[in-house]
Formats: sequence, C-alpha cells, structure tokens
Amino acid sequence: MDWIAAVPALAGLVTGSFLNVCIHRLPRRESVIRPRSRCPNCSKPISAGDNIPVLSFLLLKGRCRSCHQRISLRYPLVEAATAALFVAAWMRFGWSSTFVVSCLFLALILTLTVIDLYHRILPDVLTFGGLAAGVVLSPLQDPDFFHWEAEPTSLPAWDHLGFSLLGAVSGGGCLWLIATLYRRFSGVDGMGFGDVKMTAMLGAFLGWRCAWLSVFLGSVVGAVAGAIYMRARSEGRSYPLPFGTFLGVAAAAVALWGPEILRWYFSD
Ligand SMILES: [Zn+2]
Repeated sequence: MDWIAAVPALAGLVTGSFLNVCIHRLPRRESVIRPRSRCPNCSKPISAGDNIPVLSFLLLKGRCRSCHQRISLRYPLVEAATAALFVAAWMRFGWSSTFVVSCLFLALILTLTVIDLYHRILPDVLTFGGLAAGVVLSPLQDPDFFHWEAEPTSLPAWDHLGFSLLGAVSGGGCLWLIATLYRRFSGVDGMGFGDVKMTAMLGAFLGWRCAWLSVFLGSVVGAVAGAIYMRARSEGRSYPLPFGTFLGVAAAAVALWGPEILRWYFSD
C-alpha cells in the first residue's frame, strides 16, 4: 500500500473522534458542538493534547488523566474503525467524488451501528438527515449503484436523483413490509420504524438493489449473531436484537462491494 493511504487514515481518525462525540451525545439529546469533550466520570474537560485519536488512549493507558477512571475501549475502536473504512473507500474508489460520498455514508453508518448497539435507537438526525444528504449528493455517487448495464459516463444528474429517491422509497418500503409481516407472524417487535428510516437512507445512497442486498445480508448477520447470543445466554427470545447494528455492518460492506456482489451472484 501507498504511503498516501495515510491521508484517508488520518482523516478517518479525526472523523472517528467526532463520531465518538455523536455516539455519546446524540442518544442523550445533547449538542455535538458544545461544550468541549469531558470525562464522562469526573466531567473534567479533556485537553487537546489528551484528545488525540487512539494515541492519547494508549499514552494514558485507557484511563482519565484526572480521575483515573477507565475510558471505554469503544473510543479508540471507533476511531480505528473509521480510519480503516476511509482507507477501504479510498482503495476502492480512489480520489473521486464517490470517495467523499462513501466516507460520509460510512461515517453515518458506523455512528448508527454503535448507537443502536448500546441504546437500541436510531436518531432521526442521522437517518432523515442522511436520507436528505444521500439524495442531494447522488449526482456525485458512483453510477454503478444506480445503473447496472448503462455506460457510466453518460448519465445526467437528474437520473441519479431519480434513482436515489426510488432507492429511498423502495428500501424503506421493503423493510416496512418485512417488519409488518414479522410482527404479524411472530408477535414480536423485531424491527422498529427507525430501521425503516435507516433502510430508506441506505436506498438514497446505494440505490434500491444495494439497499435490498443490505437488508438481506443484515438479516443473515442478525440471525447468526442472535443464534450465537441466545445459545450463550439461554435467555429466550425476549432480548431485543439491535437490527440496525446488523444492517449497518451489512451496509458498510455493500457500500464498498455491493455492485460486485450482485454481478457475481447474477452472472452465471
Ligand atoms: Zn475523569
């Protein structure tokens, strides 16, 4: 790999540091801008020198400088994951408008994935905000997500906008139908309306084919993770699984390799 990969990696670390703020504050309905970062235990503001992604965690040995309370491993993991995703997007799309759109999408998805895992909610500001961003930015998205066979260079911007809206409606509709049927037949609320909004956002960014692929792969990941979890805990079916988390893991993979997966599957 090229040394220039350090650029998306550093951008990912800095972005990941901000995503940590969003992950901590959005479920608590706090501002993500103010005040500056504080220790969740002693509320002491964290100095800029102690707020360097990953590095500060290692130098402070995972503890707050003033109260020595353990800092969650989630912080460096989110920063490292964002860096890895940005590098993967750069390897996949190079320096292109699609790279920028992908980084925004992956950052949104990672935030939703972690918030859903901890809180079982998917904040509207991310799902609806992401949906709007996906439609507006669709002219910059790789045509591969919207058109399969067409010549990628000959597509007007309105074409992308139309496919993005179609993706949002059919993605959200697909999950709404699955959630309704699941509730009807199992009597359990497996998926909430937040999952519907999240899938609409996936469709806006990735088009309807890749939104449906994400739902399918997310369900597979969820079924496997659920089976493993229930076997380990033997708590029965009462435990609410974070479907948004599984959907997020699948969507991140689909954002990078979705069209390839579909072409490979349908090619023979
Ligand atoms: Zn502290």
